[in-house]
Amino acid sequence: MKALALFSGGLDSVLAMKLIIDQGIEVIAINVNTGFGATTSRDEHMKFMCEQIGAKLEILDLRDEYLDEVLFDPKYGYGKNFNPCIDCHGFMFRYTADLLKKYDAAFMISGEVVGQRPMSQRKDAMIQVQKLSEHDDLIVRPLCAKLLAPTKPEREGWINREKLLDISGRSRSRQLQLAKEIGLKDFEPPAGGCLLTEEKFSDRLRDFTKYTTMDKNDIDTLKAGRHLRLPDGAKLIIGRDKDDNEKLKNTTSDKYLRARVLDASGPFCLFDKTATISDKQLATNIIITYARTQKDKLYTVDFTDYQLQGQKFDSKDQLQQYFI
Ligand code: SF4
Repeated sequence: MKALALFSGGLDSVLAMKLIIDQGIEVIAINVNTGFGATTSRDEHMKFMCEQIGAKLEILDLRDEYLDEVLFDPKYGYGKNFNPCIDCHGFMFRYTADLLKKYDAAFMISGEVVGQRPMSQRKDAMIQVQKLSEHDDLIVRPLCAKLLAPTKPEREGWINREKLLDISGRSRSRQLQLAKEIGLKDFEPPAGGCLLTEEKFSDRLRDFTKYTTMDKNDIDTLKAGRHLRLPDGAKLIIGRDKDDNEKLKNTTSDKYLRARVLDASGPFCLFDKTATISDKQLATNIIITYARTQKDKLYTVDFTDYQLQGQKFDSKDQLQQYFI
């Protein structure tokens, strides 16, 4: 008997898998990459978590499908920010269910806990998630299964319901106790790092979609640098540090020109290809302001397709109005 687990990398999904593995069932951890996870790769962390409990790991890249099917038109709406959690969970289960045959697995599990999260982990929301998944009788939540109606794997005796748990609410104490009992190292809180739950990132995303349509190559540019919207609508992104500069350099988005001051050291920038003359000049002066430059001196900014000269602003405070 095998099961597929929806695996976020967080503690709750690790514990849920462990409860099932302890019943002699092989578990394959499926991590869905929506594109909006943490800004740094968590692959190594996820591998380490799976190794500790004896689960296999598969990462599913569903960035295109997530943009097409979930992010902009969620049936059950958004949480506090741009997070469509109910639809997102249903989506993850639906695509994970497509792998049941490939792995010859009989059912799915997740680390959800009743009442732990305001949007997706209320009892009624869990039922909505099950409906969206199109496999509602095959989803087991081992950490709170005793508080929910028995599912097919429990009724059929594939797993022993008595060995599942009845955790509810926001307290983490039972999970932390369980982690201690099994000697789990370096674990993270549940669903750590989903950028869609963050206010600032959600503002960037809202702004972005006001001006253009999004594809998966745009996701990484939203995660790095300072983002500015200029008066005629052009977007300017300025790297804040070496890490940002690298990420911006590596973008595969075709919406931007690469920009940098030629005669001074400064950040790597991306600038809208469709900018007006007036936004181009403003961007030039802003990029010069963020470089190691002096006042009252002319500098040249190279925008790949053209070069412009400009001067540093007296103060960065003058630029605050453009920040998203
Ligand atoms: S927190 Fe993010 S990844 Fe988790 S369910 Fe919500 S939208 Fe999806």
